[in-house]
Amino acid sequence: MHEAWSIIVHGGAKTIPPERQADHRRGCLAAVAAGQAILEPGGRAVDAVIAAIRVLEDDATFNAGYGSVVNADGVVECDAALMDGASLDVGAVAALQGVRNPIAVAAHMLREPPVLLVGEGAWRFALEMGCDLCDPAALVAPEPVDAGCDTVGCVAYDSGGNVASGTSTGGLKGVRAGRVGDSALPGCGLYADNGLGGVSFSGDGEGIIRLALAARLMREIETLGADAAARKVIPLMERVNGEAGCIVLGAGGEPGFAHNSHHFAVALAASQRPAQAFLSRSECSDV
Ligand code: ASP
Repeated sequence: MHEAWSIIVHGGAKTIPPERQADHRRGCLAAVAAGQAILEPGGRAVDAVIAAIRVLEDDATFNAGYGSVVNADGVVECDAALMDGASLDVGAVAALQGVRNPIAVAAHMLREPPVLLVGEGAWRFALEMGCDLCDPAALVAPEPVDAGCDTVGCVAYDSGGNVASGTSTGGLKGVRAGRVGDSALPGCGLYADNGLGGVSFSGDGEGIIRLALAARLMREIETLGADAAARKVIPLMERVNGEAGCIVLGAGGEPGFAHNSHHFAVALAASQRPAQAFLSRSECSDV
């Protein structure tokens, strides 16, 4: 019998049209199931985050991996990051073209000396690591996602008491080539520290970076707990006129989430709690 574990995933802070809502619930639940399959038998939080994010990247419902939005040049450029709260190791890639699962490249970066590789250098690293490469055009789905914020993310807590968090995104539609958003930057789009917990954001990347939003949340979590910390930092986005959402797990794996976007697709599960999906915080009364 293993100790407690928990996992929470999100599919982006935005408005989800009615005809796409079922896909968002289904996709987030499938990602939670992939992470749960690792955590339940005693697997590691970092591996659960990678597994969950791969599912979301492969699903054209979400703006990450396959189905990402294109930049001003008509090309998909992806950012992804993974943080291990046990060691504070971070692996991140940005402005990466032609890789099916950017989170897999971030995972290979986790134990490398550099934290972040971008563009051509990140692609060469993916090649060396044997990651699944493709024509950048193959990442554009026939029915591209809507233009809203749509990063995917996951935070997991394993039975050994370790927290990990991750992000993956195609960024914002139509941005300048080479633009890097918050998702690849620790302290902005994500953070994890076993003693405090972990967080993953979606939203207007430039605003999240300017606020260093993940860092602010980590400062609050110790005194407020996961959910109250999430609810406290999201309103700060008003200062930069932006939208965002975040998923959080506290140091004991307790979940929280908040958003100021209309919707924020979230799914969560824990050793004592069956998987559930929500399209907004108002659907969830018992976090
Ligand atoms: N935060 C992401 C970025 O700015 C966008 C998103 O959340 O969809 O790249």
